Amino acid sequence: MNYEPVIGLEVHAQLKTQTKIFCGCSTRFGAPPNTHVCPVCLGMPGVLPVLNKTVVEYAMKMALATGCRVEGTSRFARKNYFYPDLPKGYQISQYELPIALSGHVNISLENGTTRRIGITRIHMEEDAGKLIHDPDRPVSYVDYNRTGVPLIEIVSEPDLRSPEEAGAYLRQLRAILRYLDISDGNMEEGSFRCDANVSVRPKGQEEFGTRTELKNLNSFRFVEKALAWEIARQKEALGQGEQIVQETRLWDTEKNRTISMRGKEEAHDYRYFPDPDLVPLVIESSWIKEVEKQLPELPDQRRARFMADFDLPEYDAGVLIAAREIADYFEDCLAAVNKPKLVSNWMMGELTAILNAKGLSITESPISPERLAGLIKLIDAGTISGKIAKIVFDEMAGSEKDAKTIVEEKGLVQVSDEGEISRIVDKVIESNPDEAEKYRNGRKKLFGFFVGQAMKESRGKANPQVVNELLKKRLDG
Ligand code: ADP
Ligand code: MG
Ligand code: ZN
Repeated sequence: MNYEPVIGLEVHAQLKTQTKIFCGCSTRFGAPPNTHVCPVCLGMPGVLPVLNKTVVEYAMKMALATGCRVEGTSRFARKNYFYPDLPKGYQISQYELPIALSGHVNISLENGTTRRIGITRIHMEEDAGKLIHDPDRPVSYVDYNRTGVPLIEIVSEPDLRSPEEAGAYLRQLRAILRYLDISDGNMEEGSFRCDANVSVRPKGQEEFGTRTELKNLNSFRFVEKALAWEIARQKEALGQGEQIVQETRLWDTEKNRTISMRGKEEAHDYRYFPDPDLVPLVIESSWIKEVEKQLPELPDQRRARFMADFDLPEYDAGVLIAAREIADYFEDCLAAVNKPKLVSNWMMGELTAILNAKGLSITESPISPERLAGLIKLIDAGTISGKIAKIVFDEMAGSEKDAKTIVEEKGLVQVSDEGEISRIVDKVIESNPDEAEKYRNGRKKLFGFFVGQAMKESRGKANPQVVNELLKKRLDG
Protein backbone atom coordinates (compact mmCIF):
# COMPACT_ATOMS: atom_id res chain seq x y z
CA MET A 1 0.00 0.00 0.00
CA ASN A 2 1.02 3.60 -0.59
CA TYR A 3 1.44 5.49 2.69
CA GLU A 4 1.65 9.21 3.26
CA PRO A 5 3.56 10.70 6.20
CA VAL A 6 1.92 13.29 8.45
CA ILE A 7 4.18 15.44 10.61
CA GLY A 8 3.57 18.11 13.25
CA LEU A 9 6.37 19.87 15.10
CA GLU A 10 6.65 21.34 18.57
CA VAL A 11 9.46 23.87 18.69
CA HIS A 12 10.92 25.44 21.80
CA ALA A 13 12.83 28.66 21.27
CA GLN A 14 14.80 30.26 24.04
CA LEU A 15 14.20 34.00 24.17
CA LYS A 16 17.10 36.44 24.30
CA THR A 17 15.96 38.46 27.29
CA GLN A 18 18.52 39.76 29.80
CA THR A 19 16.73 38.21 32.74
CA LYS A 20 14.61 35.14 33.44
CA ILE A 21 10.86 34.92 32.98
CA PHE A 22 9.76 35.21 36.63
CA CYS A 23 12.80 36.66 38.48
CA GLY A 24 15.68 39.06 37.90
CA CYS A 25 18.41 36.43 37.48
CA SER A 26 20.65 36.71 34.44
CA THR A 27 20.05 34.39 31.48
CA ARG A 28 23.67 34.57 30.32
CA PHE A 29 24.94 31.26 28.95
CA GLY A 30 28.14 29.67 30.21
CA ALA A 31 28.33 31.08 33.76
CA PRO A 32 29.69 28.79 36.52
CA PRO A 33 26.96 26.37 37.63
CA ASN A 34 24.33 27.64 40.05
CA THR A 35 25.50 31.25 40.07
CA HIS A 36 22.47 32.69 38.29
CA VAL A 37 19.89 31.55 40.78
CA CYS A 38 17.64 33.03 43.45
CA PRO A 39 14.86 31.78 45.72
CA VAL A 40 12.27 32.29 42.95
CA CYS A 41 13.91 30.20 40.25
CA LEU A 42 15.06 27.66 42.83
CA GLY A 43 11.43 27.19 43.83
CA MET A 44 11.81 28.04 47.52
CA PRO A 45 8.60 28.04 49.55
CA GLY A 46 6.79 31.35 49.89
CA VAL A 47 8.32 33.18 46.95
CA LEU A 48 6.25 34.79 44.21
CA PRO A 49 6.95 34.91 40.49
CA VAL A 50 6.74 38.26 38.66
CA LEU A 51 6.25 38.09 34.89
CA ASN A 52 8.98 39.66 32.72
CA LYS A 53 7.31 42.13 30.34
CA THR A 54 9.95 41.65 27.64
CA VAL A 55 9.10 37.95 27.43
CA VAL A 56 5.50 38.86 26.63
CA GLU A 57 6.66 41.40 24.06
CA TYR A 58 8.91 38.85 22.34
CA ALA A 59 6.18 36.21 22.30
CA MET A 60 3.85 38.79 20.76
CA LYS A 61 6.45 39.58 18.10
CA MET A 62 6.66 35.94 17.08
CA ALA A 63 2.88 35.65 17.14
CA LEU A 64 2.41 38.67 14.89
CA ALA A 65 5.23 37.62 12.56
CA THR A 66 3.50 34.28 11.99
CA GLY A 67 0.01 35.67 11.52
CA CYS A 68 -1.26 34.41 14.88
CA ARG A 69 -4.05 36.08 16.81
CA VAL A 70 -2.73 37.54 20.07
CA GLU A 71 -5.21 36.71 22.80
CA GLY A 72 -6.51 39.53 24.99
CA THR A 73 -6.42 37.23 27.99
CA SER A 74 -4.09 34.35 28.56
CA ARG A 75 -3.08 32.38 31.63
CA PHE A 76 -0.16 30.58 33.16
CA ALA A 77 -0.66 27.06 34.43
CA ARG A 78 1.33 24.61 36.46
CA LYS A 79 2.51 21.51 34.67
CA ASN A 80 3.32 19.11 37.46
CA TYR A 81 5.97 16.47 37.27
CA PHE A 82 8.94 15.38 39.32
CA TYR A 83 12.44 15.58 37.96
CA PRO A 84 15.69 16.73 39.60
CA ASP A 85 16.15 19.58 37.11
CA LEU A 86 12.80 21.05 38.15
CA PRO A 87 13.16 22.27 41.73
CA LYS A 88 9.55 23.48 42.16
CA GLY A 89 8.08 20.14 41.11
CA TYR A 90 6.13 21.96 38.40
CA GLN A 91 6.89 23.99 35.33
CA ILE A 92 5.05 27.23 34.77
CA SER A 93 3.65 27.09 31.26
CA GLN A 94 0.54 28.14 29.39
CA TYR A 95 -2.05 25.51 28.72
CA GLU A 96 -5.71 26.19 28.11
CA LEU A 97 -5.24 29.88 27.35
CA PRO A 98 -2.02 30.45 25.43
CA ILE A 99 -0.90 33.92 24.34
CA ALA A 100 -1.44 33.27 20.63
CA LEU A 101 -3.50 31.03 18.33
CA SER A 102 -3.89 30.04 14.68
CA GLY A 103 -1.17 31.44 12.48
CA HIS A 104 0.93 30.09 9.64
CA VAL A 105 4.27 30.28 7.88
CA ASN A 106 5.09 29.71 4.22
CA ILE A 107 7.84 27.31 3.32
CA SER A 108 9.70 27.08 0.01
CA LEU A 109 10.80 23.68 -1.22
CA GLU A 110 13.70 22.62 -3.42
CA ASN A 111 11.37 21.97 -6.34
CA GLY A 112 10.28 25.59 -6.33
CA THR A 113 6.85 25.09 -4.77
CA THR A 114 5.59 26.91 -1.71
CA ARG A 115 3.37 25.49 1.04
CA ARG A 116 1.51 27.12 3.87
CA ILE A 117 1.95 25.41 7.23
CA GLY A 118 -0.53 26.15 10.01
CA ILE A 119 0.56 27.13 13.50
CA THR A 120 -1.83 25.91 16.13
CA ARG A 121 -0.56 27.96 19.06
CA ILE A 122 2.33 29.80 20.63
CA HIS A 123 2.76 29.85 24.38
CA MET A 124 5.28 31.09 26.94
CA GLU A 125 6.93 28.90 29.54
CA GLU A 126 9.99 28.58 31.73
CA ASP A 127 12.91 26.30 31.00
CA ALA A 128 14.11 23.61 33.43
CA GLY A 129 17.66 23.22 34.76
CA LYS A 130 20.33 21.05 33.27
CA LEU A 131 21.55 17.67 34.47
CA ILE A 132 25.17 16.79 33.89
CA HIS A 133 26.00 13.11 34.11
CA ASP A 134 29.53 12.20 35.16
CA PRO A 135 30.84 9.82 32.50
CA ASP A 136 33.23 8.12 34.94
CA ARG A 137 31.21 7.76 38.11
CA PRO A 138 27.57 7.02 38.84
CA VAL A 139 26.98 10.67 39.77
CA SER A 140 24.83 13.41 38.24
CA TYR A 141 25.09 17.11 38.88
CA VAL A 142 22.43 19.74 38.42
CA ASP A 143 22.88 23.29 37.20
CA TYR A 144 19.93 25.59 37.89
CA ASN A 145 21.24 28.53 35.86
CA ARG A 146 18.83 27.61 33.06
CA THR A 147 15.85 27.19 35.39
CA GLY A 148 13.39 29.95 34.59
CA VAL A 149 14.98 31.02 31.32
CA PRO A 150 12.11 32.06 29.04
CA LEU A 151 10.93 29.87 26.18
CA ILE A 152 8.20 30.09 23.64
CA GLU A 153 6.72 26.88 22.32
CA ILE A 154 5.44 26.99 18.76
CA VAL A 155 3.13 24.11 17.87
CA SER A 156 2.42 23.38 14.22
CA GLU A 157 -0.65 21.84 12.72
CA PRO A 158 -0.07 18.32 11.34
CA ASP A 159 0.42 19.93 7.91
CA LEU A 160 3.91 18.73 7.02
CA ARG A 161 4.15 15.83 4.58
CA SER A 162 7.84 14.94 4.35
CA PRO A 163 11.10 15.24 6.26
CA GLU A 164 12.18 17.85 3.72
CA GLU A 165 9.14 19.97 4.51
CA ALA A 166 9.84 19.62 8.22
CA GLY A 167 13.38 20.87 7.64
CA ALA A 168 12.18 23.79 5.55
CA TYR A 169 9.61 24.70 8.21
CA LEU A 170 12.22 24.68 10.96
CA ARG A 171 14.59 26.82 8.93
CA GLN A 172 11.82 29.29 8.24
CA LEU A 173 10.86 29.51 11.92
CA ARG A 174 14.47 30.02 12.89
CA ALA A 175 14.93 32.70 10.24
CA ILE A 176 11.87 34.57 11.56
CA LEU A 177 13.13 34.36 15.16
CA ARG A 178 16.48 35.71 14.08
CA TYR A 179 15.03 38.49 11.96
CA LEU A 180 12.98 39.48 15.00
CA ASP A 181 16.17 39.26 17.07
CA ILE A 182 14.34 37.47 19.88
CA SER A 183 16.23 34.16 19.89
CA ASP A 184 19.63 32.83 18.81
CA GLY A 185 17.88 29.88 17.21
CA ASN A 186 20.91 27.70 17.77
CA MET A 187 19.97 24.03 17.70
CA GLU A 188 23.37 22.68 18.75
CA GLU A 189 23.41 24.91 21.83
CA GLY A 190 19.83 24.06 22.68
CA SER A 191 18.31 27.50 22.22
CA PHE A 192 16.11 26.02 19.46
CA ARG A 193 14.70 22.55 20.14
CA CYS A 194 12.28 20.41 18.26
CA ASP A 195 10.04 17.46 19.08
CA ALA A 196 8.68 15.82 15.97
CA ASN A 197 5.33 14.04 15.87
CA VAL A 198 4.89 11.66 12.99
CA SER A 199 2.37 9.17 11.69
CA VAL A 200 1.60 7.58 8.35
CA ARG A 201 -1.75 6.87 6.69
CA PRO A 202 -2.81 5.14 3.50
CA LYS A 203 -2.78 7.69 0.70
CA GLY A 204 -6.23 9.15 0.21
CA GLN A 205 -7.35 8.40 3.76
CA GLU A 206 -8.67 11.44 5.63
CA GLU A 207 -8.09 10.17 9.14
CA PHE A 208 -4.64 10.42 10.71
CA GLY A 209 -2.75 7.37 11.85
CA THR A 210 -1.33 6.80 15.34
CA ARG A 211 1.69 9.03 15.91
CA THR A 212 4.94 8.73 17.73
CA GLU A 213 6.86 11.66 19.16
CA LEU A 214 10.59 11.91 18.44
CA LYS A 215 12.97 13.61 20.84
CA ASN A 216 16.68 14.28 21.09
CA LEU A 217 16.86 15.97 17.74
CA ASN A 218 19.57 18.56 18.14
CA SER A 219 20.35 19.41 14.55
CA PHE A 220 18.32 19.95 11.39
CA ARG A 221 19.99 16.95 9.86
CA PHE A 222 18.94 14.74 12.76
CA VAL A 223 15.34 15.91 12.48
CA GLU A 224 15.23 14.94 8.82
CA LYS A 225 17.08 11.67 9.30
CA ALA A 226 15.02 10.64 12.32
CA LEU A 227 11.76 11.39 10.53
CA ALA A 228 12.81 9.46 7.43
CA TRP A 229 13.80 6.49 9.53
CA GLU A 230 10.65 6.58 11.63
CA ILE A 231 8.39 6.92 8.58
CA ALA A 232 10.03 3.83 7.07
CA ARG A 233 9.60 1.94 10.35
CA GLN A 234 5.91 2.80 10.59
CA LYS A 235 5.23 1.92 6.94
CA GLU A 236 6.86 -1.42 7.36
CA ALA A 237 5.04 -2.20 10.60
CA LEU A 238 1.66 -1.30 9.10
CA GLY A 239 2.49 -3.24 5.96
CA GLN A 240 2.97 -6.31 8.11
CA GLY A 241 -0.34 -5.79 9.83
CA GLU A 242 1.14 -4.49 13.06
CA GLN A 243 -0.21 -1.51 14.98
CA ILE A 244 1.74 1.62 15.82
CA VAL A 245 1.99 2.28 19.53
CA GLN A 246 1.63 5.93 20.57
CA GLU A 247 4.88 6.57 22.34
CA THR A 248 7.91 8.80 22.73
CA ARG A 249 10.99 7.67 20.83
CA LEU A 250 14.57 8.89 20.96
CA TRP A 251 16.87 9.42 18.00
CA ASP A 252 20.00 7.36 18.57
CA THR A 253 22.77 9.34 16.87
CA GLU A 254 25.15 6.42 16.94
CA LYS A 255 22.91 3.67 15.63
CA ASN A 256 21.01 6.03 13.31
CA ARG A 257 17.61 4.82 14.39
CA THR A 258 14.81 5.75 16.75
CA ILE A 259 14.34 3.76 19.93
CA SER A 260 11.34 3.52 22.17
CA MET A 261 11.76 5.63 25.32
CA ARG A 262 8.42 5.57 27.09
CA GLY A 263 4.71 5.47 26.56
CA LYS A 264 3.32 8.86 25.63
CA GLU A 265 2.16 10.90 28.59
CA GLU A 266 -1.22 12.57 28.34
CA ALA A 267 -2.16 16.04 29.48
CA HIS A 268 -3.98 14.62 32.52
CA ASP A 269 -0.73 13.02 33.69
CA TYR A 270 0.55 16.53 34.36
CA ARG A 271 -2.44 17.67 36.44
CA TYR A 272 -2.40 21.09 34.81
CA PHE A 273 -4.14 23.83 36.76
CA PRO A 274 -4.01 27.66 36.62
CA ASP A 275 -1.08 28.99 38.62
CA PRO A 276 -2.63 30.77 41.61
CA ASP A 277 0.51 32.92 42.03
CA LEU A 278 0.05 34.62 38.66
CA VAL A 279 -2.93 36.74 37.65
CA PRO A 280 -4.35 36.29 34.16
CA LEU A 281 -2.32 38.15 31.56
CA VAL A 282 -4.38 40.87 29.91
CA ILE A 283 -2.96 42.42 26.77
CA GLU A 284 -4.54 45.68 25.59
CA SER A 285 -4.99 46.05 21.84
CA SER A 286 -2.99 49.30 21.98
CA TRP A 287 0.05 47.28 23.10
CA ILE A 288 -0.43 44.80 20.27
CA LYS A 289 -0.52 47.69 17.78
CA GLU A 290 2.64 49.16 19.28
CA VAL A 291 4.51 45.85 18.94
CA GLU A 292 3.19 45.40 15.42
CA LYS A 293 4.72 48.76 14.47
CA GLN A 294 8.11 47.63 15.77
CA LEU A 295 8.24 44.51 13.59
CA PRO A 296 11.24 44.56 11.25
CA GLU A 297 11.13 43.44 7.63
CA LEU A 298 10.61 39.66 7.72
CA PRO A 299 12.15 36.98 5.48
CA ASP A 300 9.18 36.68 3.08
CA GLN A 301 8.97 40.43 2.66
CA ARG A 302 12.67 40.72 2.10
CA ARG A 303 12.61 37.97 -0.53
CA ALA A 304 9.80 39.75 -2.38
CA ARG A 305 11.70 43.04 -2.24
CA PHE A 306 14.92 41.42 -3.50
CA MET A 307 13.04 39.95 -6.45
CA ALA A 308 11.18 43.15 -7.26
CA ASP A 309 13.90 45.74 -6.67
CA PHE A 310 16.98 43.82 -7.78
CA ASP A 311 15.39 41.58 -10.37
CA LEU A 312 16.87 38.50 -8.72
CA PRO A 313 15.62 34.99 -9.51
CA GLU A 314 13.51 33.50 -6.71
CA TYR A 315 16.23 30.95 -5.99
CA ASP A 316 18.88 33.62 -5.40
CA ALA A 317 16.53 35.70 -3.30
CA GLY A 318 15.70 32.64 -1.19
CA VAL A 319 19.34 31.85 -0.52
CA LEU A 320 20.20 35.45 0.31
CA ILE A 321 17.35 36.07 2.73
CA ALA A 322 17.77 32.75 4.58
CA ALA A 323 19.65 34.60 7.30
CA ARG A 324 19.43 38.28 8.09
CA GLU A 325 23.22 38.63 8.15
CA ILE A 326 23.53 37.20 4.63
CA ALA A 327 20.90 39.58 3.31
CA ASP A 328 22.61 42.48 5.09
CA TYR A 329 25.94 41.53 3.56
CA PHE A 330 24.33 41.49 0.13
CA GLU A 331 22.81 44.92 0.59
CA ASP A 332 26.08 46.30 1.93
CA CYS A 333 27.78 45.09 -1.27
CA LEU A 334 25.10 46.69 -3.39
CA ALA A 335 25.62 50.00 -1.64
CA ALA A 336 29.11 50.00 -3.17
CA VAL A 337 28.41 48.37 -6.53
CA ASN A 338 24.96 48.20 -8.06
CA LYS A 339 25.27 44.81 -9.74
CA PRO A 340 22.78 42.56 -7.89
CA LYS A 341 23.10 39.40 -9.96
CA LEU A 342 26.88 39.55 -10.07
CA VAL A 343 27.05 40.09 -6.30
CA SER A 344 24.58 37.26 -5.77
CA ASN A 345 26.64 34.89 -7.95
CA TRP A 346 29.82 35.66 -6.07
CA MET A 347 28.14 35.30 -2.69
CA MET A 348 26.46 31.99 -3.54
CA GLY A 349 29.59 30.67 -5.24
CA GLU A 350 33.07 31.68 -4.12
CA LEU A 351 32.13 33.37 -0.86
CA THR A 352 30.00 30.49 0.39
CA ALA A 353 32.73 28.05 -0.63
CA ILE A 354 35.46 29.73 1.43
CA LEU A 355 33.15 30.29 4.40
CA ASN A 356 32.23 26.60 4.38
CA ALA A 357 35.83 25.53 3.97
CA LYS A 358 36.92 27.67 6.89
CA GLY A 359 33.83 26.93 8.99
CA LEU A 360 32.98 30.60 9.30
CA SER A 361 29.68 32.43 9.35
CA ILE A 362 29.10 35.40 7.09
CA THR A 363 29.68 37.86 9.93
CA GLU A 364 33.16 36.34 10.30
CA SER A 365 33.88 36.55 6.58
CA PRO A 366 37.53 37.32 5.83
CA ILE A 367 36.29 39.47 2.95
CA SER A 368 34.10 42.41 3.90
CA PRO A 369 31.19 43.47 1.68
CA GLU A 370 33.17 46.57 0.68
CA ARG A 371 36.12 44.48 -0.47
CA LEU A 372 33.93 42.05 -2.42
CA ALA A 373 32.24 45.02 -4.03
CA GLY A 374 35.69 46.33 -5.00
CA LEU A 375 36.41 43.07 -6.81
CA ILE A 376 33.06 43.10 -8.57
CA LYS A 377 33.67 46.65 -9.77
CA LEU A 378 36.83 45.47 -11.51
CA ILE A 379 35.00 42.58 -13.17
CA ASP A 380 32.16 44.81 -14.24
CA ALA A 381 34.54 47.39 -15.72
CA GLY A 382 36.32 44.65 -17.69
CA THR A 383 39.59 45.34 -15.89
CA ILE A 384 39.92 41.68 -14.96
CA SER A 385 38.38 38.53 -16.36
CA GLY A 386 36.21 36.22 -14.31
CA LYS A 387 39.05 33.74 -14.19
CA ILE A 388 41.55 36.26 -12.85
CA ALA A 389 38.89 37.47 -10.42
CA LYS A 390 38.92 34.03 -8.78
CA ILE A 391 42.67 34.30 -8.23
CA VAL A 392 42.27 37.79 -6.79
CA PHE A 393 39.44 36.58 -4.58
CA ASP A 394 41.57 33.80 -3.09
CA GLU A 395 44.34 36.29 -2.48
CA MET A 396 41.91 38.65 -0.76
CA ALA A 397 40.74 35.88 1.55
CA GLY A 398 44.24 35.56 2.93
CA SER A 399 45.14 39.23 3.19
CA GLU A 400 43.75 42.64 4.06
CA LYS A 401 44.45 44.04 0.62
CA ASP A 402 41.69 45.26 -1.63
CA ALA A 403 41.16 43.85 -5.10
CA LYS A 404 42.61 46.85 -6.93
CA THR A 405 45.89 46.68 -5.03
CA ILE A 406 46.27 42.96 -5.69
CA VAL A 407 45.55 43.38 -9.39
CA GLU A 408 48.12 46.19 -9.66
CA GLU A 409 50.78 44.45 -7.62
CA LYS A 410 50.48 41.21 -9.55
CA GLY A 411 50.00 42.80 -12.94
CA LEU A 412 46.73 40.97 -13.47
CA VAL A 413 44.96 43.61 -15.48
CA GLN A 414 43.04 42.08 -18.34
CA VAL A 415 44.59 42.59 -21.74
CA SER A 416 42.08 43.78 -24.32
CA ASP A 417 44.58 45.38 -26.66
CA GLU A 418 44.05 43.84 -30.10
CA GLY A 419 47.68 44.20 -31.11
CA GLU A 420 48.93 42.22 -28.17
CA ILE A 421 46.23 39.57 -28.43
CA SER A 422 46.84 39.27 -32.19
CA ARG A 423 50.42 38.34 -31.50
CA ILE A 424 49.33 35.68 -29.04
CA VAL A 425 46.70 34.28 -31.42
CA ASP A 426 49.19 34.12 -34.30
CA LYS A 427 51.72 32.40 -32.13
CA VAL A 428 49.22 29.79 -30.98
CA ILE A 429 48.12 29.01 -34.55
CA GLU A 430 51.69 28.79 -35.76
CA SER A 431 52.73 26.43 -32.98
CA ASN A 432 49.83 24.08 -33.69
CA PRO A 433 49.77 23.64 -37.45
CA ASP A 434 48.18 20.17 -37.36
CA GLU A 435 45.24 21.34 -35.26
CA ALA A 436 44.85 24.42 -37.44
CA GLU A 437 44.68 22.26 -40.53
CA LYS A 438 42.15 19.87 -39.00
CA TYR A 439 40.06 22.81 -37.88
CA ARG A 440 40.00 24.33 -41.32
CA ASN A 441 39.02 20.92 -42.69
CA GLY A 442 35.93 20.88 -40.53
CA ARG A 443 36.84 19.78 -36.98
CA LYS A 444 35.15 22.89 -35.56
CA LYS A 445 35.31 21.49 -32.06
CA LEU A 446 39.01 22.37 -32.02
CA PHE A 447 38.10 26.03 -31.60
CA GLY A 448 37.94 25.55 -27.85
CA PHE A 449 41.42 24.11 -27.92
CA PHE A 450 42.76 27.31 -29.49
CA VAL A 451 40.93 29.52 -27.01
CA GLY A 452 42.45 27.48 -24.19
CA GLN A 453 45.95 27.75 -25.65
CA ALA A 454 45.62 31.50 -26.17
CA MET A 455 44.37 32.05 -22.62
CA LYS A 456 47.24 29.95 -21.32
CA GLU A 457 49.73 31.87 -23.37
CA SER A 458 48.42 35.13 -21.88
CA ARG A 459 48.49 33.60 -18.39
CA GLY A 460 44.75 34.11 -18.11
CA LYS A 461 44.92 37.82 -18.72
CA ALA A 462 43.64 38.07 -22.27
CA ASN A 463 40.10 39.30 -22.67
CA PRO A 464 38.31 36.08 -23.75
CA GLN A 465 35.91 37.95 -26.00
CA VAL A 466 38.73 39.56 -27.97
CA VAL A 467 40.54 36.22 -28.12
CA ASN A 468 37.44 34.62 -29.60
CA GLU A 469 36.97 37.30 -32.21
CA LEU A 470 40.56 37.32 -33.36
CA LEU A 471 40.82 33.53 -33.46
CA LYS A 472 37.68 33.37 -35.58
CA LYS A 473 39.13 35.90 -38.00
CA ARG A 474 42.43 34.05 -38.32
CA LEU A 475 41.08 30.52 -38.52
CA ASP A 476 37.90 31.05 -40.52
CA GLY A 477 38.87 34.12 -42.48
P1 ADP B 1 0.86 16.87 22.88
O1 ADP B 1 0.80 18.20 23.54
O2 ADP B 1 0.32 15.77 23.66
O3 ADP B 1 2.22 16.55 22.33
P2 ADP B 1 -0.74 17.97 20.67
O4 ADP B 1 -2.12 17.60 20.33
O5 ADP B 1 -0.52 19.33 21.18
O6 ADP B 1 -0.15 16.89 21.63
O7 ADP B 1 0.10 17.78 19.35
C1 ADP B 1 1.44 17.93 19.31
C2 ADP B 1 1.89 17.92 17.86
O8 ADP B 1 1.55 16.69 17.24
C3 ADP B 1 1.29 19.01 17.00
O9 ADP B 1 2.33 19.62 16.29
C4 ADP B 1 0.37 18.26 16.07
O10 ADP B 1 0.31 18.87 14.81
C5 ADP B 1 1.01 16.91 15.96
N1 ADP B 1 0.09 15.80 15.67
C6 ADP B 1 -1.09 15.55 16.25
N2 ADP B 1 -1.61 14.41 15.75
C7 ADP B 1 -0.74 13.92 14.84
C8 ADP B 1 -0.72 12.77 14.00
N3 ADP B 1 -1.69 11.85 13.99
N4 ADP B 1 0.36 12.60 13.20
C9 ADP B 1 1.36 13.48 13.20
N5 ADP B 1 1.39 14.57 13.97
C10 ADP B 1 0.36 14.81 14.79
MG1 MG C 1 4.14 16.94 22.72
ZN1 ZN D 1 16.16 33.64 39.88
